[in-house]
Amino acid sequence: MTDTSPKGPVPRASVLKIAPYIPGKSQASGVDPKSGKVFKLSSNENPLGTSPQAIAALQASTHLEDYPDGSSSRLRHAIADAHGLNPDRIVCGSGSDEILSLLSYAYLEDGDEAIYTEHGFLVYKIAILAAGAEPIVVPEHHHTANVDSILAAITERTKMVFLANPNNPTGTYVPFDEVKRLHSGLRPDIILVLDGAYAEYVRRNDYESGIELVANSANVVMTRTFSKIYGLANLRLGWCFGPEGVIDAINRIRGPFNVNGAALAAGEAALADSNHIARSVDHNETWLKQMSDGCQALGLDVTPSVGNFILVHFSSDGDHSAERADAFLQDRGVVVRRVTAYGLPDALRITIGTEEANLAVLAALKAFLGR
Ligand SMILES: *Cc1c(COP(=O)(O)O)cnc(C)c1O
Repeated sequence: MTDTSPKGPVPRASVLKIAPYIPGKSQASGVDPKSGKVFKLSSNENPLGTSPQAIAALQASTHLEDYPDGSSSRLRHAIADAHGLNPDRIVCGSGSDEILSLLSYAYLEDGDEAIYTEHGFLVYKIAILAAGAEPIVVPEHHHTANVDSILAAITERTKMVFLANPNNPTGTYVPFDEVKRLHSGLRPDIILVLDGAYAEYVRRNDYESGIELVANSANVVMTRTFSKIYGLANLRLGWCFGPEGVIDAINRIRGPFNVNGAALAAGEAALADSNHIARSVDHNETWLKQMSDGCQALGLDVTPSVGNFILVHFSSDGDHSAERADAFLQDRGVVVRRVTAYGLPDALRITIGTEEANLAVLAALKAFLGR
């Protein structure tokens, strides 16, 4: 137990309400008997790895004795060029998780409320509580964020709404028309945070990451990451595009050198490697469908996903539970993500992997279900 006796230092009450984030496992109890390998499909990392150009840039980034560029200037300009944005309205962070925290610290006070959805990304809850505010969790509809339930939860204390679009761990998305309707229903003092961690993967005509909405309003922020399609999760790099006032607030409170030089160099090169990104998207397109179809053919329900992972549903008890499936897969070297903390005790989130990993998943699930 945490020692909170009056003798020692006591953290603010909301800090003790935080359940520490449990990352996806990277170890398996077993290894695949055929290949002798472990397939890590628990953290939505890019199965094609890092862009070779980014690795070259990383290796060329020396002078570790020098502080990095504290304003991430070159990378912000590269991001701005790639997306057609004003570089002054971008802030880079040590992962987009840092940006989510900074937004919360800058805007939330004790007693404020911040909304996210039923199966929404859990870093929001941590960021909200760490800032001393109250997380308000609203119901989803078919594992998808619902604009009406978000709007119905707004009170005079609401300061922020977090929407992962597409969401992790469900893989579902909210069409842009609905995002705009959500924004229209918010008071101008409420910040809408659009988390586009998987935006690059989405191939839907009615989807947009929200750049246009940010550009044309004073209370919308879009966060993005280099951890997923860009294959740089290890270096911790993310960014946001937001209104001038929000960017100013984040710049006041962020660490003066919050992004390291290796990440800046590799990020710039990864952004420029459109070939690697295109290959990653193509691979995902092919295997997202094959994995969804393959699981369904085995009789499993799969939530329709537009990301680089699928949410697969198991029976709530007995021999074919998610818990048993997880153990069975692990024994065969396949590491996936349990999502009980997301209110989904009967589901597993499985990242789309290499062809070899994907086939290992389908074979293991088939054996598990005795098909
Ligand atoms: C992975 C993920 C992130 C990215 O986090 P980083 O700190 O940039 O690695 C952000 N939001 C969601 C919904 C994610 O799944």
